Amino acid sequence: MSGIYERLGVAPIINAYGTNTRLSGGIMAPEVAQAMVEASQYCVDMVELQARASQEIAAATGAEAGLVTSGAAAGVLLGLAACITGLDPEKMNRLPDASGMRSEILVPRSHRNFYDRAARALGAHVVEVGLPDRFAGTGVRDTEAWEIAAAITERTAAVYYLAKPFALPKLPEVVAAAGGKGVPVVVDAAAELPPKENLRRFISEGAALVAFSGGKAIGGPQASGILAGKRELIAAAALQMLDLDLFFEQFNPPPTFISKQSLPGLPQHGIGRPCKVGKEEIVGLLTALRLFAADTGARAERWRRLSAELLAGLNSIPDLAVESAPDGRESGIPLLAVRLKPRRDGLDMRAVARRLEAGKPSLRCNVSRAGEGLIILSPVSLRDDQLPEIVACFRAALA
Ligand SMILES: *Cc1c(COP(=O)(O)O)cnc(C)c1O
Repeated sequence: MSGIYERLGVAPIINAYGTNTRLSGGIMAPEVAQAMVEASQYCVDMVELQARASQEIAAATGAEAGLVTSGAAAGVLLGLAACITGLDPEKMNRLPDASGMRSEILVPRSHRNFYDRAARALGAHVVEVGLPDRFAGTGVRDTEAWEIAAAITERTAAVYYLAKPFALPKLPEVVAAAGGKGVPVVVDAAAELPPKENLRRFISEGAALVAFSGGKAIGGPQASGILAGKRELIAAAALQMLDLDLFFEQFNPPPTFISKQSLPGLPQHGIGRPCKVGKEEIVGLLTALRLFAADTGARAERWRRLSAELLAGLNSIPDLAVESAPDGRESGIPLLAVRLKPRRDGLDMRAVARRLEAGKPSLRCNVSRAGEGLIILSPVSLRDDQLPEIVACFRAALA
């Protein structure tokens, strides 16, 4: 039991669900935590630190530039803001009043989700495109690229694209449809790491900007993220997040990060100022990104080992039937599917899930399919020493 949480009277949980924000994400590697502690003992110029981060993100993603954000949701907001304002400080100062600006964000209807609230928060309008009747069971199609091309007008600022392995239309088709008309595609790839290749994939497929979560499987600080992409858009995003309470002549950003010559003056605090990110998060994220990019399989190997040990441990409980459950994505995260065998007392999986959550310690799992008699476990946010505890939690819940 941790001293700090004990002092606060908050009991740590065992997070066998994954890197969900609600469950506080994951557990950082000691190197990342140490980097944050060290960063906290000095002051730096934040523009210079973000400019350096831009180079590291560019190297890891193949993008022209990058920005450390307070999360992927912040990255989407800042990225869409950049598409709306460009480098015009007058427009930056006016948001969320987007009147007179290109402020329509096209979203394939099957990509709609509540993170696209970022567009509405900017005063922009979400314009849904197409009708994915493949999900209704009445048809075979999703939104098609030609429909996106047809929906573009002089008011279109960007296309928002939610990256998922099953997403349609494919990103290169959307880029071809939008790019031909000069419209940038902003990719929300918050949870698409691993696989590591995805760090470069969306940029190489033509995304103008891509947002990743730093607090998911990269293993960075919970409140961190990455926005990577075109140099000018990253500069526009940075200008709308950074603290700009200074005179224009004092503002001397590294020109490869923000070209001062392109600006008539400085905007005031921008629409992204509430998405503030600290030096500790920036340094922690960069450390985590370096470890993630350098990993040649040790991380996945550890997850497989945890998963295999947990499978054996839980299968020693007579009431349970546990098997590995590849999650159908390209992530390679070895999930486990835990089923409850029929019991004489009629105890069902939903009741077991409630008992696990109410237990001491509280065990949190993916219970979205508990109605089908199934609980899903992920090793990503677990510490090695928690495996015996998890088995004990199940034993207690089934007793
Ligand atoms: C998790 C997630 C986000 C939010 O990421 P944060 O880093 O928590 O801000 C945004 N979009 C999608 C698709 C996500 O899965």
